[in-house]
Formats: sequence, C-alpha cells, structure tokens
Amino acid sequence: AQADLLQSQKMEVLGYLTGGIAHDFNNLLTAVIGNLQLAMRRSAGQAELQRLLLGASRAADRGAALIRRMLAFARRQVLHPQAVDLQALVGGMENLLARTIGPAVRVAGLLPPGLWHVRSDPAQLELVLLNLAINARDAMPEGGTLIISAGNETVLPGATHPAELAAGEYVRISVVDTGVGMDVATLARACEPFFTTKPVGRGSGLGLSMVHGVAMQSGGGVQIESQPGEGTTVSLWLPRAEALPVDLSAGSAEAPPAAV
Ligand code: ADP
Repeated sequence: AQADLLQSQKMEVLGYLTGGIAHDFNNLLTAVIGNLQLAMRRSAGQAELQRLLLGASRAADRGAALIRRMLAFARRQVLHPQAVDLQALVGGMENLLARTIGPAVRVAGLLPPGLWHVRSDPAQLELVLLNLAINARDAMPEGGTLIISAGNETVLPGATHPAELAAGEYVRISVVDTGVGMDVATLARACEPFFTTKPVGRGSGLGLSMVHGVAMQSGGGVQIESQPGEGTTVSLWLPRAEALPVDLSAGSAEAPPAAV
C-alpha cells in the first residue's frame, strides 16, 4: 500500500507539474506564434526573411503540438468514472488493436458472458488496453499471441503482497503475451514513471504508470507476472459497477441496462 501511495503521489505531482508548465508554455507559444505571423505579413517580398520566419513558425507549431500532448497527459490524471461494459469496450477496440499490433501477433479475446460491468473511465480504459497491447507487441518482435481475458472475482490481491487479499466484487482483466518477459529488476521498476528499457524515441516509460494510475484511481489494483523468455501477464482489478447506471439523469449511451 505504501508503494501504491508513493506511485499515485508521483503521478499526481507529475500531472500538476506537466499541467502547470504546459499551460504557461502554451501562453508563451501563443505570443511567439502571433508575433511570427505578424512579422511574416510585414516582410512580404523579402524572401530570405520570410524563409527564416517560416522555419521559426514551423518549429513553434511543433512545440504547440507537443504542449497539447502534455496537456492531454495532465488531464488524464482526472477520471470520469461510470459503469463500463468491458465486453462492448474490448469488442469496439478489435480493429484498433489488430492495427496496432500488426499481423505477426494473433489476438484472442476471452471475455466470458455474464461478466460484471465495472466502474471506471471508459476512455482511460481504452488507453490502458492500448498501452498494454503496445507493450505486448514490443515484447514479441518475432510474433506471438496476445490474449485478453477477464473474469468476475471476489477478492483483490494486495499490490505489494499479492497473497494479502481484500474481499469485494471486482472484474479482473488480463493482457497476456508470449513475449520476452521481464527479469526481476525490470519487473520491480516497470510501473515507475519514466522507467523504460526501450530505445530513445520508442518508449516514454509512462505506459504502465498510466495503467497503474487508472486501476488505483478506479479503486482497484494491478498485478504483473512475468517470466523472462516466456511472457508477461498484466492484470487489472476493477470494482464492479452498481446494478443501476451511475448517472441516471445523463441518460448516457454507455450506461448498462438497469438490472432491476
Ligand atoms: P514503455 O513501454 O514506454 O517503456 P511502460 O511503462 O509501458 O513504458 O513499460 C516500462 C518497461 O516495462 C518497458 O520498457 C519494458 O522493459 C517493461 N515491459 C512492460 N510491458 C512489458 C511486456 N509486456 N513484456 C516485457 N516487458 C515489458
């Protein structure tokens, strides 16, 4: 629990920092881009000057795109929980997953009928599954199998001591790969923000932190099992949603049919 707290505090601080910096930087960039546009207009007919200004303005645009990504990351810290049907969610991601993972990896979904709905943020859960699929793909450069399985559970394993179980109603969703796996040292650090073993430009080291953050903020947990050379299983425990849709007034299309 101590480690979980530290982890979510780190992510929270990271969210604040990124959010604050991105916001201030965005204002600065707006001024830079505005002035550049003005200078471009005033320098009509001066080809050399225009070329320099265009270069500066393209760089500023790239900066603005980066800032938008940072702001999106900062916003991700806030969950909008609702009742989620994992069957529908995973079903709706089939094409995206297949495209992300590529032809070398076989994807199999094993979501049993009667799976409880969970209480979490559906948009974040999609990102969670996408992150896990990307990790699985990277772990299987020569191809392999990716399985998404799920089941109703009545206990939540402790994050630091998996044998310590807490009673409750949860759905476990696991992403299983037959990839390179992780050694003990990598496994111990895998969920740390910015920890990555991938080459620069390939990995941000934020995938599993995000997965961990979403599971913890939903009131669930994460467990990673890995064997070097054999593969990795990342499991999320998410709390069961109440039988009734969370927000009746919203009339959300995502709300499950009321079971009363
Ligand atoms: P990133 O994927 O950007 O490196 P993550 O936080 O998602 O960031 O993962 C951190 C590290 O954990 C990876 O660099 C990799 O070493 C290890 N890892 C994560 N998922 C897997 C997996 N499915 N198989 C093997 N190693 C993994």
